[in-house]
Amino acid sequence: MNENLYPALVDYVFDYCGRFMNDKENKANWHHFAIEKSGNGTKEGFYNHFKETKHISSDPEVLALLENGFNAFKIKVASRIYNEHKEKLDLNLCPKCFKIARAPQAKQCRFCFHDWH
Ligand SMILES: [Zn+2]
Repeated sequence: MNENLYPALVDYVFDYCGRFMNDKENKANWHHFAIEKSGNGTKEGFYNHFKETKHISSDPEVLALLENGFNAFKIKVASRIYNEHKEKLDLNLCPKCFKIARAPQAKQCRFCFHDWH
């Protein structure tokens, strides 16, 4: 893991920089969502729906991305995106402590509580 990547930055990159996900990562993200939403397959209606929309994957490469759990997947994806696209990411950093804000439009820092309204 990149030493600059702390949990809040992982969350931000994963949630707001999704356009930099590659095809397999995108499919893995959908797969995880579909499995959660369908209660691991117990909610048949949801399960069949996601099967039909092809959001449930059987691609071994996609499933391998999730084999260590969703959090490990998030860290892996966010690290790759951060390392490969750092200059292109629209990171909303606190002007005082330079840590990441909670969301792109946020104007208050959750770390040092600085306010830049
Ligand atoms: Zn701050």
